[in-house]
Amino acid sequence: MATLLDGRRLAATIEKRLQAVIAEHGELVGRPPGLAVLRVGDDPASGVYVANKEKACTRIGVTNLGAHLPAGTPASEVLATIERLNADPAVDGILLQLPLPAGLDEGPLLAAIDPEKDADGLHTLNLGRLLKGEPGPRSCTPAGVMALLAAAGVQLAGRRAVVVGRSILVGQPMALMLQAANATVSVAHSRTVDLPALTRQAEVLVVAAGRPHMIGAEHVSPGAVVVDVGIHRRPEGGLCGDVRFEEVEPLASAISPVPGGVGPMTVAMLLVNTVRAWCRRSGVDPQSLGGPFLF
Ligand code: NDP
Repeated sequence: MATLLDGRRLAATIEKRLQAVIAEHGELVGRPPGLAVLRVGDDPASGVYVANKEKACTRIGVTNLGAHLPAGTPASEVLATIERLNADPAVDGILLQLPLPAGLDEGPLLAAIDPEKDADGLHTLNLGRLLKGEPGPRSCTPAGVMALLAAAGVQLAGRRAVVVGRSILVGQPMALMLQAANATVSVAHSRTVDLPALTRQAEVLVVAAGRPHMIGAEHVSPGAVVVDVGIHRRPEGGLCGDVRFEEVEPLASAISPVPGGVGPMTVAMLLVNTVRAWCRRSGVDPQSLGGPFLF
């Protein structure tokens, strides 16, 4: 039976550690960490994601300084809000919740976020820092996957990893992080020929294709570690991932479930980026948080 890569449990452990760091240094700093989740419009899925992030902030003592702008807000006003948050000394992390309403171009807005307050780790400067192996906020979802793997003691150095998906949000930074951990990495995408032959080479397989249930037993070699990043709402209710869990679990040595795998880790890493920025901006040694992926 495969080991379950339990993101819910690990996220709770990480939250406890962050809470302790805030409690230890809060008085000296004189203010709690602040995260601003900026939402524009009323995308219902975003509403759920934002609420989850806000609840997580409350649990660990991070102040929620977010804003919710109506759907018709012009780009200039969203930009002005980002600039206000950049200048606000109580704000340590800023996150622009995507997708934006039609007509708003996310590129210039994401670029306007102060890279030092980039809680999502998706600013071009921070992606460049990842590429160069320099410190900086890391993209939350792939950083969450790295933390899950590290906590489960999965060795990456010298091992063969395959990432399915090459988005800027997940696949690309995931491949860079695995490579930085000395795995030998291949990246598959929609034009990859004979995907099962490639994924069967993986000792560590990370799937972020956004295609419900596309990965089955034919894609996985016995003993592989399988991480499922995909999240989909099933028409009949509930969530599922990109991996056919029942079919792959008996083959894998470890596997992440959906829900309860990568999802909670993404939120945990958002908090990590925020608390790390708070430490850095207030002269607290962020080493007390642990290594880049907290292990
Ligand atoms: P995108 O749609 O931006 O990217 C999907 C990637 O998968 C693309 O690179 C695409 O290739 C590739 N792909 C699509 N179909 C295939 C296929 N048949 N074979 C091989 N590759 C394929 O999605 P995201 O990266 O933003 O998200 C991926 C999934 O992860 C989604 O389900 C999303 O909901 C989920 N997600 C979950 C998070 C979490 O917290 N758990 C956070 C973020 C995302 P190409 O480039 O050629 O088009």
